[in-house]
Amino acid sequence: MLTFAFYTNSDMLRNIVIILIAVLALTSCHKRNVKNVKAKKADSMVGIDVHTLSNADSIDMQHLDLDINVDMAKKQISGCALWTINNRTKQKELKLDTYDLTIDSVYVDGQKVPYQLDSPIKFLGSALHIPVSSSSKMVKICYRTGKDARALQWLDPQQTYDKKYPFLYTQSESIYARSWIPCADGPGIRFTYSAKVSVPKGLMALMSATNPQEKNDSGTYRFNMEIPIPAYLMALAVGDITFSSIDDRTGVYAEPGMIEKARYEFEDVGRMVNTAEQLYGPYRWGRYDVLVLPPGFPIGGMENPRLTFCTPTIIAGDRSLVSLIAHELAHSWSGNLVTNATWDDFWMNEGFTDYFERRIVEQMLGKSYSDMLWELGYQDLVTAVNDLSKENPKDTWLKLDLKGRDPDDGLTDIPYEKGAHFLKLIENTVGRDRFDQFLAKYFDAHAFKTITTEAFLAYMDTTLLKDDSVSKKSLDINAWVYGPGIPANCPRAGQERFMKVDAERIKFLNDTPPANLATVDWTTHEWLQFLRQMPPALSSNQMARLDDAFRFTKTGNSEIADLWFVMAVRANYTPAFPEMETFLSSVGRRKFLEPLYGEMMKTPHGVEMAVRLYQKYRKNYHPLAQESLDKLILKK
Ligand SMILES: [Zn+2]
Repeated sequence: MLTFAFYTNSDMLRNIVIILIAVLALTSCHKRNVKNVKAKKADSMVGIDVHTLSNADSIDMQHLDLDINVDMAKKQISGCALWTINNRTKQKELKLDTYDLTIDSVYVDGQKVPYQLDSPIKFLGSALHIPVSSSSKMVKICYRTGKDARALQWLDPQQTYDKKYPFLYTQSESIYARSWIPCADGPGIRFTYSAKVSVPKGLMALMSATNPQEKNDSGTYRFNMEIPIPAYLMALAVGDITFSSIDDRTGVYAEPGMIEKARYEFEDVGRMVNTAEQLYGPYRWGRYDVLVLPPGFPIGGMENPRLTFCTPTIIAGDRSLVSLIAHELAHSWSGNLVTNATWDDFWMNEGFTDYFERRIVEQMLGKSYSDMLWELGYQDLVTAVNDLSKENPKDTWLKLDLKGRDPDDGLTDIPYEKGAHFLKLIENTVGRDRFDQFLAKYFDAHAFKTITTEAFLAYMDTTLLKDDSVSKKSLDINAWVYGPGIPANCPRAGQERFMKVDAERIKFLNDTPPANLATVDWTTHEWLQFLRQMPPALSSNQMARLDDAFRFTKTGNSEIADLWFVMAVRANYTPAFPEMETFLSSVGRRKFLEPLYGEMMKTPHGVEMAVRLYQKYRKNYHPLAQESLDKLILKK
């Protein structure tokens, strides 16, 4: 998941890094109406994945056949999940993950059976125990979702772009699939699925599967995903959605009022898939489509197979943000094809994807462009290391230790940026050609499988680094994977374009009129460098001069807008506040909301503003964004 946005503007391209930090603390404790069992500690589970309560390490979860009804008025999903299992180790019970689900009945091979739902464990939810025998094949669970389903955002019509129909979408990563499907919810557990989804007539349903391209009269849609995927890639969206084709394997879905803009914005997506294939081998998922969600989507993008979910904040009208898709597309190799075995190995998904995404950008836009992404990423890495070192230095290791914690605690810049820089170092050390051949083979050898950090390091040791003790020594792998901070051999990108930006900033600070600065060809990334490196607080007068020359307050570019509004709060530059309120009312990305509200929370006057605005617009945000912002604003 995540979001790296690249921006093209006519010939120009801009890119930007967007990281989202999901912070969720589960506080609900609904008692179940079934026999309660004393809650177990999260760290007493079997298997290497400490975030699933299932026993799917002993029982194969082969296929899911989902038959659900989506009630937009009641804001509830109900129906049955029929699992095909192979009880190869002759277990006496099947254990599945659930979160705030009401279980109505359970059947094993057609026979109704008693079951047991544990009391909820913080973060993890409730284990569902189902008696099975060694010959059991089909397990059916009929259930309803609860109002605390963390994966689901139910939007009222006024929260959508067209404001006519309600909308639902899911966000299952990291462990939220269990809040809408009883499942074995670990990244290392793969299964195929088919689904029948009934929605109100007039709405369309889409999943991470083969998808319809037009609405039907019945309101019932059927889906098939014949390639095994983990539960965190289960996805569903329901709304007034329409489709527009880009080429024979790519296209875009959006609300009718957004579809033309979205189609225009994503013109280059087909070309991007071709570029990715040239780098690391065939795209193996069939179609690649993009769904543009209503503004409340809490993250930039989610790599749901065959159908990337993305924020509408990348629809800028000038294709300036379309390359955000490069990150989600890259996940079709790193993440969806070769998947981290546990959330402790998250860098295996995100570090690889950041690296891959920058290679796509370099291919499409040139090295001086991707160098800017690397440098902004390095700055983010330094900030993350500084922040995390204070509380828990081990959170700056690549291999994480999330035992007993919310897996979203690991969603920092470390797996993304430290991971990507580690791979960049390997590339620099062994040479690009050798590294590219290795990566292509790695994706091929591990296709549709999961991998731990240790298995990857062992694979690299016996292939890429075999008989190359010089490279091995200079990489200092342990310092990267099992050590804190930024190792001394961390590579840095070229600074060619940013040196020019820095020179212009110094001129401005020495009172050169902004209109005289050489900014004419700047992309979003140059503007971000220009603003990021300003002194901590500019005067209102300096802010006004910048605004007069560059119209930052009115920018349609949400990356620049967010940074500018943070600076406006810091400088108490009030002319920007009305536009800032509009921004906060319409944008749901935590990457934007958290720094902006966070800056307000630093002064008494700002706290008053943050509380007032948050209370007004909280309902527009996704439950995941609400959870982290509640902590930041309401619980202080
Ligand atoms: Zn990602």
